[in-house]
Amino acid sequence: MTQLLDDLTPSQAAAVEHFEGPMLVLAGPGSGKTRIVTRRIARLIERRVHPAEILAITFTNKAAREMAERVEHLIPGRRVAVSTFHKFCARILRQYGGAVGLKPNFSILDVKDQDAALKEAVKEEGFDPTHYSPSRIGWRIGQLKNECITPALFAQQAGERVGTHLDSVVAKAYGRYQQILLDANAVDFDDLLLHVVTILKENPNLRQSLDERYRFILVDEYQDTNQAQYQIVSALSQNEPNLCATGDPDQSIYGWRGAQIENILRFERDFPRVKIVRLEDNFRSTPEILAAADDLIRHNTQRKAKSLRTSNPSGLPVEIRQYADGFQEADSLAAEIRERVASGERQYSDFAIFYRVNSLSRSIETALGRARVPFAITGGVAFYERTEVKDLIAYLRVIENPDDRPAFRRIVNTPVRGIGKNSQEKLDRWASARNLNLWDAVHQIDASIGLPKKAEYSLKLFANLLDELARRSHGPIADLLEVIVERTGYLQNLSGLEPEEYANRKANVEELVASARQFDQDHVEGGSLSEFLETCSLVQDADTIDESAGQVQLMTLHSAKGLEFPCVYLVGVEHGLLPHERSLRDGDPLQIEEERRLLFVGMTRAREELYLTWTRLRSTHGRLLSTIASQFLTELNVARHDYSTDDDTSFGDWSPQEMRRGTSGDSILAQMAGWGEQARKESSNSPDETTSTEDDHVDLAEPGVDAQLFAYAEEDTQP
Ligand code: ATP
Ligand code: MG
Repeated sequence: MTQLLDDLTPSQAAAVEHFEGPMLVLAGPGSGKTRIVTRRIARLIERRVHPAEILAITFTNKAAREMAERVEHLIPGRRVAVSTFHKFCARILRQYGGAVGLKPNFSILDVKDQDAALKEAVKEEGFDPTHYSPSRIGWRIGQLKNECITPALFAQQAGERVGTHLDSVVAKAYGRYQQILLDANAVDFDDLLLHVVTILKENPNLRQSLDERYRFILVDEYQDTNQAQYQIVSALSQNEPNLCATGDPDQSIYGWRGAQIENILRFERDFPRVKIVRLEDNFRSTPEILAAADDLIRHNTQRKAKSLRTSNPSGLPVEIRQYADGFQEADSLAAEIRERVASGERQYSDFAIFYRVNSLSRSIETALGRARVPFAITGGVAFYERTEVKDLIAYLRVIENPDDRPAFRRIVNTPVRGIGKNSQEKLDRWASARNLNLWDAVHQIDASIGLPKKAEYSLKLFANLLDELARRSHGPIADLLEVIVERTGYLQNLSGLEPEEYANRKANVEELVASARQFDQDHVEGGSLSEFLETCSLVQDADTIDESAGQVQLMTLHSAKGLEFPCVYLVGVEHGLLPHERSLRDGDPLQIEEERRLLFVGMTRAREELYLTWTRLRSTHGRLLSTIASQFLTELNVARHDYSTDDDTSFGDWSPQEMRRGTSGDSILAQMAGWGEQARKESSNSPDETTSTEDDHVDLAEPGVDAQLFAYAEEDTQP
């Protein structure tokens, strides 16, 4: 046997060595859970399990890629399927989707397409779509799907008991919405899971053969699985119950999306012979960081206490920093990072900045830009949300799936070619009456539609264009994209924009072509268009990180899950932001506990240094509002410093590097001791720091904050 076990603790090694039968690894952050998963995969292959019999599932594409690389490194030349739940389900549906009425070339809708389909469904069921926002209905439908509740089941439940008014609308719109999607040969993200659940339930033979095909299933970040995901892994672990789940209940942060901590308890019930492994050592962080994280999480009542210990050497104290406003916070952060890199003490890639809501990143981006600090925002979603990127992707979608109505509508007059709204509606009605998809409709138009001459002519040209593109769709995807850009005159059409905006859009188009080029190179034997589109749809926040580039990483707390960085700044730790206003308003203590876990996840990403910052004033939707510190900060027994009255934020005279080296002598140490003193005093004398200003609370309760959460929530919903 092999060095696979050499640098593991005895309990880690036992988990890696475990062969057949269910296993549950429950352990705190940084204890090597993810390491166990990769080592175990390698060890299984070493024991002659065929790589195709192993299915590893992680929460993000980035984690999946890293894991595949690590396995390849451990056992060169052996590729194992590591994927996210959504990716795995998409793969199953391409093969077996026929059982739920899908053709193999189905499209995956984005949030905007979804909204359009929801609006249509609401309207067709006789409700006024202006009264029922698609996002609320979509949110509820998503919830039902994650709980494996189909339209039929929900309608039945709704008939049996009195529900909310929203639910009575949803009971009708849900089924219609599903039909609209099926007619367009399309699915939304949650369908990927639900359809697979349905298929596994209704086709016992298929279930058994998949169960036998995927003999070994490993699920990392198990605490965040929802009901649908649970049903899938358990359906595939009946005949071959070699399911290995690793997780940490204290890091469960997707309750708002239907994740169920109970899945861990159920595991023990469903697999009574489960081997349970607990790990106690943290290999990631300094004792200071762990102590602070423990101070925090101890305040959660809904948990089993577990100790966090490490034999890592002691490091710098964890610090809470208070600033006057978001600009000072951002500027001083940028200056500090710049100086520490300039002095040779750190690299840019050592730093990560986390925030609760996306909108907090803008001021930081600006400050880092001004200070010439290179940074990367984990903006995978943002990139694929951009108009020009979505336009070009819509062309690809139509070429791949001529039934894709939302994509068809997006491109029929983009760039503008004189096919107005009226003409489009006429075409729509004409096509529906003849039971044609829009692709076939534009190829068959005649005078009976009653279109204006110009529109009719343009549509015919458009049909020719589609034919030409379809003919060229079998070569490299990058080439196809270039043809689309050229033949539609896409860039010329933007040339009326301001130069900077034009350059921006053009750069995005180029970036998309470059990503297709990369895809082509990675799939020399011919990647399909549907595979490429799938990659684009399933792209995630954390996907764009490139550590080699030496950039500061900016991301939301949710995307930080599973990652680690030497030096972490957690900004905006304020009442109303973290815990988020939404969790406060509902008055549900469990929601506050989830917010606390979210902060816990953020803090435990740090290996060597951790700074938590908050500001007295915060600009929200263009208004400067006064803020108070998060209640979570009072729970930490760490050093505090108030910069809100300082003019000098260069940090020149007390850089952490100097503290460590002791170059500026006792005065700094004395100062630090003073902060600690002050911290203890503050936390004992004024425990109600967070509750004193009702007005601030009210200011933050404006609807905008909710919208902000929604915007962020929708982003995070993307698998
Ligand atoms: P999280 O809950 O945050 O996802 P985790 O339990 O998955 O954490 P890992 O990411 O696997 O933890 O490990 C944390 C860090 O500790 C990694 O850098 C890993 O390489 C290192 N590590 C894990 N086990 C050991 C070990 N036995 N010896 C040395 N380093 C280790
Ligand atoms: Mg992990």
